[in-house]
This record gives sequence, C-alpha cells and structure tokens, in this order.
Amino acid sequence: MSALLQNLALTELKGVGKALEEKLQRLGIQDMQGLLFHLPLRYEDRTKVSSLASLRVGSTAVVEGEVVSSQVHLGRRRSLLVRIRDATGLLGLRFFHFSAAMKRQLEPGNQLRCYGEARPGATGLEIYHPEFKVLNQNLAVPELEQRLTPVYPITEGFQQQRLRQLVEQALSYLASHPPTELLPLAIQQEQAFPHLADALYYLHQPPADADLALLESGLHPAQRRLALEELLAQQLGMLLLRQQSRSQAACPLLPYEVASDTSLEERFLASLPFKPTKAQERVTAEIFYDLQLAHPMLRLVQGDVGSGKTLVAARACLRAITSGYQAAFMAPTELLAEQHFQNLKHWFEPLGLNVGWLTGRMKGKAREEVLARLAAGEIHLLTGTHALFQEGVNFQSLALVVVDEQHRFGVHQRLALRDKGVKGEFLPHQLVMTATPIPRTLAMSAYADLDISVIDELPPGRQPVTTLVLPDTRRNEVVERVRHACLEGRQAYWVCTLIEESEALECQAAEVTAEELRQALPELKVGLVHGRLKAAEKAAVMETFKQGEYQLLVATTVIEVGVDVPNASLMIIDNAERLGLAQLHQLRGRVGRGSTASFCVLVYHPPLSAHGRERLQVMRETNDGFIVAQKDLEIRGPGELLGTRQTGEIELRIADLKRDTDLLANLKPQAQKLLEETPEIAQQLLARWRGDKVRFAQV
Ligand code: ADP
Ligand code: MG
Repeated sequence: MSALLQNLALTELKGVGKALEEKLQRLGIQDMQGLLFHLPLRYEDRTKVSSLASLRVGSTAVVEGEVVSSQVHLGRRRSLLVRIRDATGLLGLRFFHFSAAMKRQLEPGNQLRCYGEARPGATGLEIYHPEFKVLNQNLAVPELEQRLTPVYPITEGFQQQRLRQLVEQALSYLASHPPTELLPLAIQQEQAFPHLADALYYLHQPPADADLALLESGLHPAQRRLALEELLAQQLGMLLLRQQSRSQAACPLLPYEVASDTSLEERFLASLPFKPTKAQERVTAEIFYDLQLAHPMLRLVQGDVGSGKTLVAARACLRAITSGYQAAFMAPTELLAEQHFQNLKHWFEPLGLNVGWLTGRMKGKAREEVLARLAAGEIHLLTGTHALFQEGVNFQSLALVVVDEQHRFGVHQRLALRDKGVKGEFLPHQLVMTATPIPRTLAMSAYADLDISVIDELPPGRQPVTTLVLPDTRRNEVVERVRHACLEGRQAYWVCTLIEESEALECQAAEVTAEELRQALPELKVGLVHGRLKAAEKAAVMETFKQGEYQLLVATTVIEVGVDVPNASLMIIDNAERLGLAQLHQLRGRVGRGSTASFCVLVYHPPLSAHGRERLQVMRETNDGFIVAQKDLEIRGPGELLGTRQTGEIELRIADLKRDTDLLANLKPQAQKLLEETPEIAQQLLARWRGDKVRFAQV
C-alpha cells in the first residue's frame, strides 16, 4: 500500500532539501498534505491577451503591443514612460526604477507582452511596473497559460514561482495518493460538494474559464468544501478542550435544593431594593446547576449593558462562600474593580462576610495584610484587577473565579487564568461575563469551549436612551444642553476620546476639555477622571459624582465599562466617529440606568467617512446590544469584534466566520457526533487543519 499523503515528506519533491523544507515549515507547511492545503489567496488571469481598448481602471490583464515611444520624465519623481500600441489603442507603461538594460528592451519598435493592473495615469491608462517580455521576432511567441495563475500567501524571501512549481509537483501525487476524505458523507452529499482531491486540484489550478469572481468571493463549492472541513476541525478542537476541562475535578458547591434554603442567600435577596428579573433568575439557576457538579464550570454570561450581570455573579460567589470556599471577582480596569469592590462590600458586609481588594499598585504593608488574610481564609471574596492572579497571591480555598467584562480573553487566557487557581487537584469554577454580545453563530465558533447563558431582559423601568448625532460645529448647543440638564438636577458625562492609542494624550485632552467646560459652565461643579489618576483619586472622584456633588463628569474611556450612576442621564461623546460600535454601545450604557429619560449625544468632527456615518446611524437607530453587535460584525468583520487575541486564536486559513456563517449552522452537533462515533477521524481532521497548534487531548 502506498504511503498516505500526510505521511509524504516534503523532501520527496524534486529540489526540496533540508533548507527549503525548513522555509516551507515556516509557512506552516509540514508535509505534502500541508502543501496542498496551502491555498492561493487570489488568482491572475494570464490565459488570454486583452486588447488595449478593453482595459478599464483596475483591470489586471495580459496585453501585447508595439513600443511607440520611450522617454524619461523628470517630474516630481523621475520615471520612464513607455507607450505601446495595438490595433485597438494605446497604453502607458511607467517605471520608477529602471536600468539601462531595461531601457534597451523597451526601445520603440519592440513588440512586448505585459502583465499588470491598469490605473489612471498622467497620459491616460497606465500600468506601473508591469511584468514584461520582449517578443522576439525570430522566436515563436511563448504560449499563454492554460490555467489561472495562483498567488499564494508567502513570507519574505520566498518566490511565488518557486511555490507554484512545488505545488504543481505535489499535485501530481494526488492521483496516486488521494487525500483521505474526512468530511462525513452526509454533509458532502447534502451540500453537493466536490471530492477533496478534485477540490484541491481545482483551487490550485483553475481552468481558464473558471468563474474568477466566484473564486475571489470565496464562495466556490470547492472553497466551501474546504471551509466547512476547517470549521468542523475548529469545532472539534473546541470540543476537545471542553472535554479536557470536563474531565478535571472541581469542588462541587452545595446542590441547588440544599442551598436554595440557606438563610444567607435569602437574607441577601431580602436586603436588595429590587427583585431579580426572570432572566437573572434563569441564568442564576443555570450557574447553580453547574456549580454543584464535580467538574469545573466554564460559563459565559452575556447580557446587554445594565442587564444586571453583577447580581448574578454575586449570587454565584455567595454560593461558593456558603459552601465553605472563597471566590474571586476580577475586572479589567481598576476603576471597575473599585466599583465592584464598593458594591459587593455594600451587599456582603451586612451578611457578616469579608470582601477584600487587591490591585497591582498595592504595595507594602497593605498588600501583605490582604495576602495574609486571604491565605488564612478570612477574606471570603477578593475583588480586583488581574493582580488577583499574580505570583504570591494564594487563596486558602478558591472555588469560583468571576471574570467581568473580559470578552477579549481568548480560550488559552481563560485556561491559564483558571489554572492559576488550582489548589491540589481541584480547579475553580469559572464565570466569564460580557456585555459585548457576540452574534450567535460567532459565539458558537469562538466560545465553543464555554457554555453560554444570556440575560435577555433589562430590569423594569429602564428608559431607552435617545441618541443624537451632531457635528462639532454645534458644540455650543451641546454645552447648553448639559447646562440645562444639570440645572434640572440631572447629571452628565462628557467623554473625551482620541484617535491615537495614547493614554497620555487622551488624559491631556480630557484635562483641556474639563478646563473649557468649567469656564463655559461656571455654575456647575465639574469632576475629571482619567486613567493616569491614582486608584484612590479615581475612586474619590467617582464617589463624589455618585453622591451628586459633581454634576458633570469629564472622563476618558476609562468609564467605558461597568460605571453605574443611575442619576446620570446625559452623555456626550466627543469624536464619536473614531470609536467602534461596541465601544460606543458600552459607553452609552452608562446612562439610561435611572427612571428619567436619557440622552446620548454623539459629537463628530466632519467630514464623516462612509463607515463613520454608518456606525453613528446604527447607534441612533437601536439600543439593542445584539443588533449593534450584528451590525458591527457586518461593518468590521469578526476579527475586530472579538479583539486581536481572539482572532489570533481562531486562525482560520480558509473559512471566514463572516462569509461562511451559514456553514456554522449545524456544525456543533456534527462535531460531537464525529467525536463520539469516529474519534480517529476527528483526530485526523485536527491534525490536518490545526497541525501542532492544538493541545491534543486524550479522547
Ligand atoms: P451590567 O449587566 O451592565 O453589569 P449591573 O450589574 O451593573 O449591569 O447592573 C446595572 C444596575 O441595575 C445596577 O445599579 C444594579 O444594581 C441594578 N439592577 C440589577 N438587577 C436589577 C433588578 N433586577 N432590578 C432593578 N435593578 C437592578
Ligand atoms: Mg457590569
């Protein structure tokens, strides 16, 4: 029996030695199969000669013509302009770099064949730096390509031509070593997909009459076949991660029936000025169910801003505490961590529980004291930033980790975080909360290792926020609106944003804005909070605002997440066009928390780009975080939406979560079935698509 394609070494190919093999490995290509799965990014059509008259701006084509003139131009940039002619018209060829030898080849009278992209130039259509060949009258005209020319993703120092030759050689192995069909037959038939070998052959060497537009859109059946297989492999990877974590041990927290009558929890609920919403109750029950199991919970709670995620998390913490363990509550920023600390302390201390607080900036005695109390089990719930998981932080008996507003954490960060909490052979349960709703299909793909709960209801009495969009030329009106609202007893935020990713500049802008507003609004008390204030200073400003002593709070985007001041009902966002939809939605979520009608004014600096206009329009039209997220996905694609870390982790080679959404529909159950019924095929799929990137689990 002949070797399997995936067992054929690259060195089987003519001309591939150790050095080239290593270079290929740097492209992620390990073996013959890997080479054949390294698909073109796009194609060039060199199968026919186009007439010069048929060229349009943007056409990329092979053309032929006789050189009629060749002149060096000394404009802004020195260039060689060559004009060629065929029976239908003229075309300019422009070279900014050229040698004497090239100039000789481009002399008038010579017949050329060129390839390149036509663009508008000084003399009409021009091709900058075309590839060209002189058609020597004494020799036969070289043949055109029979098939479309693939363009591969390559790294520096690798030649397209070289890779093309290698792939061509590899393709000749396809007939004798057909790649194993790993896609379940049912799927293949249902979608009427081509065979794998045919698909690969087609994609590397499409025939001259292939539908180039379809190929470039990525929707050709041959591409969709591979995309589906890749997505299936990705699901499998996630399922394995999940199985792995399910096979680990966690401390089971009190079963639902027993715990539901613990007096501590009843006392807590009775102490609240409101009743949990139905959605909060449902999600809490889902969490409680997980917590009583002997393997670690990994649950994501999604809920729009203001849906009351903190309460749900607090009840989970209480469950850990009543079961005799500790809980940790982590927030992404100090400001938010501080808010949670105040809030949870306010909720839990009357119950006789100790809430602790730890940030990276805490040093010396204060820090030592917290650590000692934590290790002794005196602190029941520790709140803070990621400092909670630094070296030297040892819990006595951690059973639950809550991670708030951290949708940007990828799978591996999540696991790392959880692993830090390991005590003996037990892993803590983990609850991740996010207000950035991820559209369902995307969530299934990106968070397949998590169970998902959705709080799909806002507490009663919430007022929808009315959103206005104004150019900064009308800033005076905006200032008047602030004056008016504040004099009526309401409070307002003024958020400063900057395009540069510089916190320092953003803080500076906020300082300047605060000064201007203090002058324009002398009758108001104006507070200022930004990322460069010390934690205690930030906390003091927030507290003063919360107490109503500041009427206007000028802030940077540090207030993006979690800040909760119900009396604030007006928000101004400067340079709103510079922010993404998710961020705008987060910011806007700071208002509309009380019972008065709330407003959000998005101030932009004209002119607006098309995307900018579209984004602001979405904000004006909807308050629904899920719609915002869906639009965000449409406008920006999944990478941006999930954050760079997340995309790095998805690392899809062929599939595109946005384009191929429909393929995701039934994938999870299919992956599950595959894993249960034919685990060896599942392993092969993973090996083919994820290579050594996946942490293999024992199935
Ligand atoms: P988010 O989901 O954005 O984190 P929070 O947990 O900060 O929302 O809750 C927003 C506000 O709603 C807080 O002031 C909180 O106390 C309040 N809240 C939470 N649950 C309810 C409820 N069931 N009824 C009324 N108010 C609630
Ligand atoms: Mg929150």
